Formats: sequence, structure tokens, C-alpha cells
Amino acid sequence: MARRRLVAGNWKMNHGPRAGDNLARELKARLSGQTRVDVAVFPPSITLPAVTARLQHSGVQVGGQDLHPEVSGAFTSAISGEMIRELGCQMVLCGHSERRALFGDDDALVNRKVHAALRSGLVPVLCIGETLQQREAGQVEAVIASQLEGGLAGLQPDQVAAVILAYEPVWAIGTGVTASPGQAQEAHAFVRRWIAERTPPYVAEQLRILYGGSVKPGNAATLFSQPDIDGGLVGGASLKAESFTAIVDAA
Ligand code: PEP
Repeated sequence: MARRRLVAGNWKMNHGPRAGDNLARELKARLSGQTRVDVAVFPPSITLPAVTARLQHSGVQVGGQDLHPEVSGAFTSAISGEMIRELGCQMVLCGHSERRALFGDDDALVNRKVHAALRSGLVPVLCIGETLQQREAGQVEAVIASQLEGGLAGLQPDQVAAVILAYEPVWAIGTGVTASPGQAQEAHAFVRRWIAERTPPYVAEQLRILYGGSVKPGNAATLFSQPDIDGGLVGGASLKAESFTAIVDAA
């Protein structure tokens, strides 16, 4: 069975509740009735209630940008998977490169977050990818393999199949430099092979692997036409309804 494409928008620290509601309203108007591909947005935590309310029954899914691995407790500022789920969200990002680089999320913590997401009924979108320095040192596959090994540790095959992976080369995020379709396909094929070697065949066949890193309306169609690219995780171009829906159209 063909894998269903997903176009996901990571709003990062943009759009408070009012602006987020406005964008959600526009997305709802443009995307309601669209059933060809899956679409999701990841607003800041404080904007989640407005956006989940606005996008109810729209077909556009909503996710959190991060979660704490514990259910509750003395973790000032953090939110748990259960809280995100309570709002009606379906997904949560785990291990985005900005979390890894700026907030110290290492593979062990990312793995706890992946487990916590699954426990709370959310689909983890596990982000992986190498820095430019690592690419230039010929370490792309080694870096991806160790992030997969760490991030997916302890998961049963069914749980791995339920995860969505996002290959996001760090050098392409927010830089305007996109991986070439060939570079992206090569990394995605490696990821699928890595999974196939460790799980029953259905897991790698079902697993959705998104590409992220300066996806724009002009490059989305070529990227998404690669056999192992199942959609995109979009940052900058997801902040406006026009560019985001153009990327959905390209998927
Ligand atoms: C991202 O934040 O996941 C991302 C891919 O950002 P951008 O599209 O802006 O490169």
C-alpha cells in the first residue's frame, strides 16, 4: 500500500494565540475538503488551544513542538504529552535540531520523549539530521544511524511503524539552502534501509519519512517526487497560508 504523504508546518516561536487563530482560519478555508494528503501544523504551546479549537473537523491535524517525558510534576514551564493530547492534538515533534542545539536535548532525552509521546497517544515526529561539519567530514550515515539508534531505543516494531521520521539536515534548516533531491533521497533511502535491517518488512514499508530544510513552493514537488520522501516538515514557508497551501498542493 502506498504511504500517505504528510505536509507538516512547524511554526517554531511564531504566531501567538491571535495570529495563530487567524492563520488557522485561513488554512481551514483553503484546505477543508482536501483529502489527498495529510496536513498538520505545530504551533507554539500557548497557541495550541486556539488552533486546535479552530481546526476541529477541518482535516488539518495539530501537534505540539515538544513535550516533557514525565506526565506531571515539578518541571516549571514544561508540558506533558497528556496535556497536549487533552487539547485534541495528534502529534508531537521530538528532537528537532533547535531543541538539540539550543536546549540540550540529547538522544537519551529524545528517546524518553518518543516513549512518552506514544504512551500518551501522540504520534512522535522524530527529527534527525547532520550538521554541515558532519556532512563535510563524511559522517552523514553515522550521525543518522546513531540518532535512530538512540531515538528509537526500546520500541517494539509496531511502535516504530507508528513513528514519523523527519530527516532535516541542520545546514538546510532556515538557511534557504535546500538539500538537492538526490542528497535527500540518498539519506531517506539509508534511513529506510536501516529500519528494514532491524524490523519486520512491514515497518520500513509503512514508515513515513519527511524531508525538512528550506522546503518552499518552488522546490517541494521535486523533493516529494523522490521514492523515499513521504512529505515535508516545513518551517518558514508554513507561516503564511499561501506558501504552506502551495506546498500542500505540490505534495
Ligand atoms: C524546520 O524548522 O523544521 C524547518 C525545516 O525549517 P525551514 O523550512 O524554515 O528550513
